[in-house]
Amino acid sequence: MPTLYEVEHLHQPDGWLSPGFLEVGDDGQILSVSARCPAGRRAEKLAGYGVPGLSNLHSHAFQRALAGRTEFVTGALAEDNLWTWRKEMYRMVDRLTPEAYEAIAALVYLEMLKFGMTAVCEFHYVHHQSGGAHFANPAEMSDRLIAAAADTGLGLTLLPVLYAHGGIGKPAEPTQQRFVHDVDAYLALIDTLRSRRTDHPDLHIGLALHSLRAVTPEEAKAALAGMNALDPQARLHIHVSETTHEVAEVEAGLGARPVQWLLDNTGLDDRWCLVHATHLDASEIAGAAASGAVAGLCPLTEATMGDGFFPLVEYHQAGGAWGIGTDSHYATSIAEELRMLECGKRLELRRRNVIAQPSATGPVHSGPVHSGRVHFDMALRGGEQASGQGGGALIIGRRADLLMLDADRNVLLGHGPQTALDAWMLGGTENPVRDVMIGGKWVVRGGYHPQEARIKANYRAAMAQLTT
Ligand SMILES: [Zn+2]
Repeated sequence: MPTLYEVEHLHQPDGWLSPGFLEVGDDGQILSVSARCPAGRRAEKLAGYGVPGLSNLHSHAFQRALAGRTEFVTGALAEDNLWTWRKEMYRMVDRLTPEAYEAIAALVYLEMLKFGMTAVCEFHYVHHQSGGAHFANPAEMSDRLIAAAADTGLGLTLLPVLYAHGGIGKPAEPTQQRFVHDVDAYLALIDTLRSRRTDHPDLHIGLALHSLRAVTPEEAKAALAGMNALDPQARLHIHVSETTHEVAEVEAGLGARPVQWLLDNTGLDDRWCLVHATHLDASEIAGAAASGAVAGLCPLTEATMGDGFFPLVEYHQAGGAWGIGTDSHYATSIAEELRMLECGKRLELRRRNVIAQPSATGPVHSGPVHSGRVHFDMALRGGEQASGQGGGALIIGRRADLLMLDADRNVLLGHGPQTALDAWMLGGTENPVRDVMIGGKWVVRGGYHPQEARIKANYRAAMAQLTT
C-alpha cells in the first residue's frame, strides 16, 4: 500500500508547499506530490520542514579516523600542507584491517545520515593488504564498505579507484602498494562489484581515477573505455587541481593544466565529477562549466589542508554544476561545509551573499534570492548528478529520500520556509535533522538510529587497535 504524508512545509524545486502531500509507493519511489489531500485518503502528518536528502559526492571513509589527530607540529617543520598530512594518513593506512575499515565506515556513514545525507560517493583506494599482497577476495575492502552502507541504510555509489603510480613518471612508493592496480585487474574488480548489485539493488558502481599524477594518459583512456563498455552511464570521478603543486606537475608532465587536459582528452560531460578543481584558470572555468561536469567541492577539507579557494563565483556565474563532499570528514555535515564555502568566499572577496543571484542554469526562485536556498539546491543537484542515486528532489518518479527538519530546534525557531535553509546554514550550529527516510524507509527517527550503540562500540575497538 502506498503511504501518504502531509508534510507541514515541503521543499519543491521552485519553492515550498505548505502543506505538501507526498505519496510514496511500496517500491520507495514518489508516486505523487500535491498541495491538497487526495480525495478519500488519510495522511500521516509530519511536522517541520521536509527537504530532499543530499548525496555526499566525495568521501574517503577511513580518513574519519584521522580527524583531530594531525593538528600539531613537532620539531622544526619547514612546511605543513596536504603532502605532509598525507604521510600521517599513510601511517594509518598501513595498519588498517578490513574489520577496522568497515567499523570506521559504519560510524562515518551513520554520522552522514544524522546530518542529512542519504547517499555517499565513496572514493575507495585501499584495496590490498599492507605491503600490497592481494586479499584472497580481491573485493575484500570494497565489500566492507558495501556492508557498512547496508548496516546504516545509507545509499552507496562505490567508486573503486585506479591508482598506478606515485607521480608522473614515478613508480608507486612502498606506502602506496595497498592502492595499486593495473588496468585489467582494476576492470575485473569493477566487474565483480557490479555483480554485488544482485544483493544490493541501490548500490551503484562508478569509476574513479585517483588523479592525473597517479595514472598515465594510456591507463586513463583504457580504464574509461573498459568502464564505458560495462556501463555507459557510470559516474566518473577524479581528484583534480587540488594544489598548485599538482597543477605544475601535470602541466610539466602532460603539457596542459589538469582540467584543460581532461577537456582536451576525455570529452568531459555530465557523468564526470571533478573533485576539488580548486585551481582553475579562466579557460578551464568556462570549459568545465560548459561540459556539464560537477565540481566536487570539499570546503572544510580543502581549508584544513590549506589548498586555496575554488573560484566559486566565476564558476557559478558560468552556469557550472557543483556539489559538496566531506572528503576527509573534518565534519560530516552539509551545513558546516556550505557555511565554510560561503563564509570563506565572503572573507576573500569582502562582500556578503556571494552567489545569491540567478545562475544561468540554477534553480528558479521568485522574490529575494537566499544564500541558504541557493547553496542547498546547488548541492542537492550536484550531489545527485555525481552519485546517480535517483533521489535529489521530492518530485514524482524520484526515490523518496526525505529529511524532516525540526522547526523547534533553536537554529530554526521562529523561522518560516523563506529563511529556514539560510538559518540551517548560517543561523547556528545545532543540527535540526530529526528524521531521515531513504527509499521510503525511515532509517533515523527522532535523531535515533537503531544500530548506533553497536556501530560506536565497533569504532571504539577499531581505534584502540589503530592507535596502540
Ligand atoms: Zn579525496
